[in-house]
Amino acid sequence: MTQDQWGQLKQDLLKTIGKSNYKSWIEPLELSHVEEGVATFAVPTSFVGNYVSQKYGDQILYHARSISPDIRRVHFQVPANSAGRPTARASSPRPAADAKAPAQRDASMPAAPLDKRFSFDTFVVGKPNELAHAAAKRVASGGPVTFNPLFLYGGVGLGKTHLMHAIAWELSQRQPELNVVYLSAEQFMYRFVSALRERKMMDFKSMFRSVDVLMVDDVQFIAGKDSTQEEFFHTFNALVDGGKQIIISADRAPGEIENLEERIKSRLQCGLVVDLHPTNYELRLGILQSKVEYYRTQYPGLVLADGVLEFLAMRITKNVRVLEGALTRLFAFASLVGHEITMELTQDCLADVLRSSERQVTIEEIQRQVSDHYNIRLSDLIGPKRVRIFARPRQVAMYLAKQMTSRSLPEIGRRFGGRDHTTVMHGVRRIDELRVADVQIAEDIDLLRRTLEA
Ligand code: ADP
Ligand code: MG
Repeated sequence: MTQDQWGQLKQDLLKTIGKSNYKSWIEPLELSHVEEGVATFAVPTSFVGNYVSQKYGDQILYHARSISPDIRRVHFQVPANSAGRPTARASSPRPAADAKAPAQRDASMPAAPLDKRFSFDTFVVGKPNELAHAAAKRVASGGPVTFNPLFLYGGVGLGKTHLMHAIAWELSQRQPELNVVYLSAEQFMYRFVSALRERKMMDFKSMFRSVDVLMVDDVQFIAGKDSTQEEFFHTFNALVDGGKQIIISADRAPGEIENLEERIKSRLQCGLVVDLHPTNYELRLGILQSKVEYYRTQYPGLVLADGVLEFLAMRITKNVRVLEGALTRLFAFASLVGHEITMELTQDCLADVLRSSERQVTIEEIQRQVSDHYNIRLSDLIGPKRVRIFARPRQVAMYLAKQMTSRSLPEIGRRFGGRDHTTVMHGVRRIDELRVADVQIAEDIDLLRRTLEA
């Protein structure tokens, strides 16, 4: 790749990522050299390097390969000295792509790579996750199998994968002889399908049956995939019968995973089922503080104004992944422009994240959308008439109000023409049942929710 081609590539990126991202992240990059299939770019700071590598590494590689197909990897590094050509790899901070490099496990096994950063040391414990953490610790101590499986569930970005990797790390450190296998349910399926295709089912079976600890992440993925479920069920049973530990995660409780065979559900419920609750303010602040400590080691000159972390913990409530992303962006930006991280910089740099966290749906909006959707008058939605054509939409609206706002049942009742909180509760329950039994209602809710969230 020549400098001219890199110039062209930058223009392509500008079109896809937009001007402000381009200015912050792509413009500062300099192509330094291409050697043995690795295109190396000089970056002003390791933060920019980390960020660009995580966020744009794949895109840059993709474009670069369309120019020079022999490029296999892109690499971002801070020049060893500002005058010279960047060569010394060891002296510069390792870029994120490398920091995350998979620790290769026994190659003959079906395991997926583990992320070094996901250890118990880096997991911050708080009220919402203390049970899950304690259970994970117990399993990781490698004593006799007490609960099987351990089933961890919770919303996206709350630390399920982190805890599973942490268990795997600790177990393989304590008992290196153990065959610990971590993989996602999706990878399980792909391995299964390719074993079928290549007529290697015997290998597949014996491989999985020889595992000592099996961890399957995001098991909801196999819902509705019948033959994969079947195979999973057999693998599961064989291992449990053999006294081997199984650890499963999912985004919801076993009983709530639709299109999952009953016998699997009941098997999954046999052990210990623990959930990770949504984060609270203290946990978010704790996580931010521990990340900042880590950043300080990488970037000693960092100055962080008072109140910034508290502000973020208060305002970004979605999940830990979003919170972390916000912090990474903030630090990368600050290191780029060489500023102290002030409240103002924070608000500027994270405007979009803050805005999307800000969006609160009101009961009035819900009522308006629902009456529009069912083509009835707002006054009928809220009014006293109990005929089905009004009562059902009313229940839908109450349900959405309960799900999408932080209002209490009595409060919701008041906004629906002064109804009692038990009426609201009844309505919410009714819709909860119908959502499973009635496809139309499920679709209505889905659509309404998406419109309201938009
Ligand atoms: P999930 O698998 O539940 O979707 P992850 O385990 O991938 O979530 O977590 C998302 C991100 O948040 C990861 O980078 C993880 O390290 C981080 N994270 C989540 N919970 C915690 C925690 N309690 N302490 C520190 N980091 C956390
Ligand atoms: Mg996960």
